[in-house]
Amino acid sequence: MSAAATRLRRLATAATAAVAVTACGGAILLTPSVASNDPAGGSATIQSVRRTINNPSAVVPSRTVQESSLISATSANPVDILVVGGGATGCGVALDAATRGLRVGLVEREDFSSGTSSRSTKLIHGGVRYLEKALFNLDRGQLKLVFHALEERKQVIENAPHLCHALPCMTPCFNWFEVVYYWMGLKMYDLVAGRHLLHLSRYYSAQESVELFPTLARKGNDKSLRGTVVYYDGQMNDSRLNVGLACTAALAGAAVLNHAEVVSFLKDEDTQRIIGARIRDNLSGQEFDTYAKVVVNAAGPFCDSLRKMANKDAQPMICPSSGVHIILPDYYSPEGMGLIVPKTKDGRVVFMLPWLGRTVAGTTDSNASITPLPEPHEDEIQFILDAICDYLNVKVRRSDVLSAWSGIRPLAVDPNAKNTESISRDHVVSEDYPGLVTITGGKWTTYRSMAEDAVNAAIKSGKLSPGNECITSNLRLIGGDGWEPSFFTVLAQQYVRMKKSYGGKVVPGLMDTAAAKHLSHAYGTLAERVATIAQNEALGKRLAHGYPCLEAEVAYCARNEYCESAVDFIARRSRLAFLDTDAAGRALPRIIQILSTEHNWDRSRQKEEMKKAKEFLETFKSSKNAQFHDGKHQ
Ligand SMILES: Cc1cc2nc3c(=O)[nH]c(=O)nc-3n(C[C@H](O)[C@H](O)[C@H](O)COP(=O)(O)OP(=O)(O)OC[C@H]3O[C@@H](n4cnc5c(N)ncnc54)[C@H](O)[C@@H]3O)c2cc1C
Repeated sequence: MSAAATRLRRLATAATAAVAVTACGGAILLTPSVASNDPAGGSATIQSVRRTINNPSAVVPSRTVQESSLISATSANPVDILVVGGGATGCGVALDAATRGLRVGLVEREDFSSGTSSRSTKLIHGGVRYLEKALFNLDRGQLKLVFHALEERKQVIENAPHLCHALPCMTPCFNWFEVVYYWMGLKMYDLVAGRHLLHLSRYYSAQESVELFPTLARKGNDKSLRGTVVYYDGQMNDSRLNVGLACTAALAGAAVLNHAEVVSFLKDEDTQRIIGARIRDNLSGQEFDTYAKVVVNAAGPFCDSLRKMANKDAQPMICPSSGVHIILPDYYSPEGMGLIVPKTKDGRVVFMLPWLGRTVAGTTDSNASITPLPEPHEDEIQFILDAICDYLNVKVRRSDVLSAWSGIRPLAVDPNAKNTESISRDHVVSEDYPGLVTITGGKWTTYRSMAEDAVNAAIKSGKLSPGNECITSNLRLIGGDGWEPSFFTVLAQQYVRMKKSYGGKVVPGLMDTAAAKHLSHAYGTLAERVATIAQNEALGKRLAHGYPCLEAEVAYCARNEYCESAVDFIARRSRLAFLDTDAAGRALPRIIQILSTEHNWDRSRQKEEMKKAKEFLETFKSSKNAQFHDGKHQ
């Protein structure tokens, strides 16, 4: 398809820099626009939105209310923007648009973050590798991308400080050339970050390095460790950040609805412009129409299927690639230090990062096909184990794998490109069908600026009249305002965990440091509401041995975070499915019991939930993991 044949329109804002037309049919790669800087203030409306979001007792409208407002968006009274897809991008768009004073709806066919956005490496990063490429290829476009991502990295961390933090990452060097090379490269990374720098990188001797990272091998591939260079990137709890975006958008007035799927588009018969969508509520099976002045397609890897719904001849924009991660016990890595090997013996990246009390390990993506529930393959798990083996002095055992998952990256590409390495991580905004603006590509780190560009495009397409400019560069998400790292001490000192014993007697328990820290990070200042439930409703027991997750969280998430199924809880609200599939399985009966009380589920729904959750856990390979022996990894 030639660029001329497409009806892609240039939707970049004035601030948008380099625009490159790709051979994949004229999709426009945009370097993200510079965020408009509305400092904390703004109009009375903006201030009122900020107050609502920051109010610790604000409650999101119920799912029923959200569905009713979508149903009431008729052709005579459409919403301004209907967003399809509740990942980081879609929820970012809904929040941006709602805080500009637009009327917004969002539908997500499964759960917020059920797609790629819960399956990432959880790094908030500028992309050290892309910096390397930018410097070697003298590529200003790549350099700008890294620069911009580093700026966004700082903002994401500031806007959700409870869910994000700076993480030191260690790069081992096995000869002096590597020491100099990585030291210079990472100093350059610091330099490009400029005032958005998290902390300065530095060199550690071999001795210092093993003190910081006790499981690091002093020899790798028969070469002695010469030292390490430690640099900083951000780390997040991706799905909780995503749910936070959805709930913040809901408080700002967006009608966000999970388990609601777009099954077809509604078109104006005369102009053929898209004017809304037919939605199926996947919980009730009911269908309804919602009208909108513009539809934003933020369906991630599935955005081509939405584009095909509008125009069956639409050419693909997505080149999917998939990445696998495994979870290992905490002793594989120290609590506050990651390990990143930029080049293993076969040239791939391998990393091991501490995350929520365990260790997440993974490697570079490979080409993949698009499937709703991607599963990790045994050879991919083996590859990661083999790769980390070379750099550790701990016995790497297959039976240590607690969970494994796969995610599909929605790379927006030139279909003629040979491999995913050469594909830009930039994002694409295009309106190749009137009324349907597609936003895809990019990465978690840049979701906010992607959303800003998509909303700018939607405003142009629908001739919308927002009340104000974009304010998300300086907007704390729910639970983030007023949160301090020491907040857990308030929980530890002021709350008790009331627990029901097997005989039905209610007994008090300590709000120990692990539980208090976990609640503080997962819910920010709203953790006090969870702690209150634990105390007043005798829901203070842990859901799974060895994990700080409490029964009260199930009730809280059902009431305040649109947690509609057992899978929603084990995968996206708590991270049990990602951390430890066996522990998640053991917690299921109690989770379903509490959700049944909250949602009035009958026996058959309870059975159905158990079945679906067990099937879901199978896609994280729990049972196979525990028993697998290949003779190589004991
Ligand atoms: C292995 C891996 C590791 C990564 N690591 C990082 C990292 O460390 N840092 C980083 O910045 N980025 C990372 N990324 C990239 C990042 O995760 C993605 O760019 C981002 O999550 C994409 O978000 P999205 O909202 O566009 O897509 P998704 O999260 O996939 O959301 C799209 C949503 O649309 C929904 N949907 C689809 N069709 C319909 C329909 N018909 N109706 C309603 N809803 C529909 C889907 O259910 C889905 O939830 C990683 C990606 C992968 C694959």
